[in-house]
Amino acid sequence: MADNGNLPADENPVNVTEHSDEYFMREAMKEAELAADIGEVPVGAVIVAGNSIIARGHNKMISANDPSAHAEIAAIREAGRVLDNYRLTDTRLYVTLEPCIMCSGAIIHARIGRVIYGARDYKTGGDVSVFNILQDPRHNHHPEVTSGVLEEECSAMISAFFARRREQKKLEKLKNRTEAQIEELPN
Ligand SMILES: [Zn+2]
Repeated sequence: MADNGNLPADENPVNVTEHSDEYFMREAMKEAELAADIGEVPVGAVIVAGNSIIARGHNKMISANDPSAHAEIAAIREAGRVLDNYRLTDTRLYVTLEPCIMCSGAIIHARIGRVIYGARDYKTGGDVSVFNILQDPRHNHHPEVTSGVLEEECSAMISAFFARRREQKKLEKLKNRTEAQIEELPN
């Protein structure tokens, strides 16, 4: 083992484990769960500098009445406050779902160095699935992109959420129909 003098244990590089992409994606998935808990589509994000999470975010569009309250935007805003800088150069953004065009634009504006996402978004994806905003060569900033990290798990979370919501709607419809039938019964 290398000798690093008298550095305290937590500052000694020998004792620091470099976390993997999967590790940080699991942290983003925890954020996605928080979104699901409040009835939002489960998408979560974390922003990492070095080996540490500096910001977190999850979807809050419905609860905040804010169409721009995507997980990535929340994390980007928090990271800006933490770093006291509108440029997030040398940071990495982990998000459970392929960023949309709005978030891809914000990622470019923020100069985020690397983007890592889980599931593809075949309806509104801004990287490769529908649009190619994130990696368009015409931008003056080109983040490195890694897709498909814990893809199946991230995708399963979203599918499960929509399946649950469809089931709830079906039950509500059934309940309303039953109530209407009861009202129609002769006294
Ligand atoms: Zn977005």
